[in-house]
Amino acid sequence: MLNFERVKIKRVDPKERIKSFDIEPVMEYSEDEGVAEASRCLGCNICTQACPASLDIGGYIKSTAVGDPAQTVRIVFENLPFPAIIGRVCTHLCEDICVLYDTGGPIAIRHLKRFAADKFDDYGKILSVPKKKFIGKKVCVVGGGPAGLTVAYYLSIQGVSVSLYEALPALGGFMKVGIPRYRLPQDVLDKEIGFITSQGVDVHLNTKVGKDITFDELMKKYDAVFIGVGNHKPRFTGTPGSNANGLYHAIDFLRRVSLGEKINVGKKVVVVGGGFTANDASRTSLRLGAEEVYIIYRRREIDRPGYPSMNADEELEETEEEGVHYMWQVTPFEYVSKDGHIVGMKYWENEMVTEGKGRAKPVPRKDKVLYMECDTIIEATGQETDWTFLGEEYMRKLRMTPQGQPIVNEKGMTSIPGLFTGGDSTNTLRDLISAVRDADKSTIGILEYLNVMDQIADERWIPVLDRWKKYSPSAGRSQ
Ligand SMILES: Cc1cc2nc3c(=O)[nH]c(=O)nc-3n(C[C@H](O)[C@H](O)[C@H](O)COP(=O)(O)OP(=O)(O)OC[C@H]3O[C@@H](n4cnc5c(N)ncnc54)[C@H](O)[C@@H]3O)c2cc1C
Ligand code: SF4
Repeated sequence: MLNFERVKIKRVDPKERIKSFDIEPVMEYSEDEGVAEASRCLGCNICTQACPASLDIGGYIKSTAVGDPAQTVRIVFENLPFPAIIGRVCTHLCEDICVLYDTGGPIAIRHLKRFAADKFDDYGKILSVPKKKFIGKKVCVVGGGPAGLTVAYYLSIQGVSVSLYEALPALGGFMKVGIPRYRLPQDVLDKEIGFITSQGVDVHLNTKVGKDITFDELMKKYDAVFIGVGNHKPRFTGTPGSNANGLYHAIDFLRRVSLGEKINVGKKVVVVGGGFTANDASRTSLRLGAEEVYIIYRRREIDRPGYPSMNADEELEETEEEGVHYMWQVTPFEYVSKDGHIVGMKYWENEMVTEGKGRAKPVPRKDKVLYMECDTIIEATGQETDWTFLGEEYMRKLRMTPQGQPIVNEKGMTSIPGLFTGGDSTNTLRDLISAVRDADKSTIGILEYLNVMDQIADERWIPVLDRWKKYSPSAGRSQ
């Protein structure tokens, strides 16, 4: 008889896992569990429509079900060069539309990628990466996050010479300095980023474009440039009292911890914000020794960023399990300090008010002032791109949307010929798999711009865009 129940993904006891950054909360499927879960799939491939990078999900779930994880990794690599990373932290919107969602639960698509990819220490042994020869073109990538790394991988295996400039001392972008190590272990980052750079990428760490080297220099030296600089400029609330010690922005806080600093957060921590970054900052605080952690958000639970989705529910569940308390509909209006250090926060509770058809707005009830003691406040209130590294001339030439993001064509090229961009600095979804999608598009855009499609090493290694169209009932009718 068919088994429609999703095979449960086990988690480590929350009391145990908060003791260390080295413990992954989510455990791996056993051999039998992984194969059983993959065998539930009906192969309809509807999920591929919801995958920003258009992975062949039905294809790789099938290879997993028949016990061929190497083939699973090969299929994933058609669009994405880090299956074990994505297999842990993808927002997995594909699972939200799985036809089995209400029949035993969606296929564990994200987890099955991890299940397959973790079996291989060296992808070089299972992938037939083309034997490239230099095709006479040099491309520069600015930013070593998932967008930049994906472009670097797919171009270098085709024989393009790629130089990558990264401001930080490590590669990975927010995979390294945003997502904490308990969710994304260092050995997983090392394996997958190492495989990408081993394709011959010329990496320049600690090199901030705009400071250590000018952008103009890069534009003159290379045949094309891809920018994947993400959003690393913190947006603070500016709440009165913000200049005290013990106040951090989550982006700075998580980066410093990821790069090895042991920040003393004291006993009680308040995190301001309601998104994934707030969850990561709160759970990191627990692992740094905080005894009580609160996440305060000005809207309701149902208004939090990323909701509704399985991913948002899982993140909230894992965070609550670890003992973090959420306080909804709360606005801090003053941070209180003593001798220059945060000791508490004054706040109001909010009422949600809907005007016309608009989204309900939080309106503070100012008649009632509330106070909470705390040792640390972390603002997870968003971040933006710092474009100043381009310099005035390029800033003037680059056409931007009213929201301040560069306008790109369908292959990622900006209004400046030869200049491509993608990832968090350019898209609105701001997750890993969307950064990969932008990078896949730009890879093709760059190869076309360089006019080298007929010289590349192997056309089977060009990322596949919009694969789902192949499965759509209307596909082919207009041809
Ligand atoms: C705390 C946190 C948790 C997250 N969790 C998830 C998750 O679970 N799942 C998910 O899918 N997404 C998650 N995201 C979002 C995801 O990490 C991003 O969408 C993704 O990393 C964006 O990739 P990117 O390549 O565009 O930019 P980034 O990853 O931000 O990389 C940009 C790189 O460019 C470098 N750079 C910037 N300016 C310069 C310069 N002038 N010169 C040289 N280098 C420069 C930066 O140092 C950085 O390394 C999370 C983000 C954060 C902050
Ligand atoms: S929607 Fe679900 S059942 Fe259909 S292919 Fe995707 S994972 Fe399999």
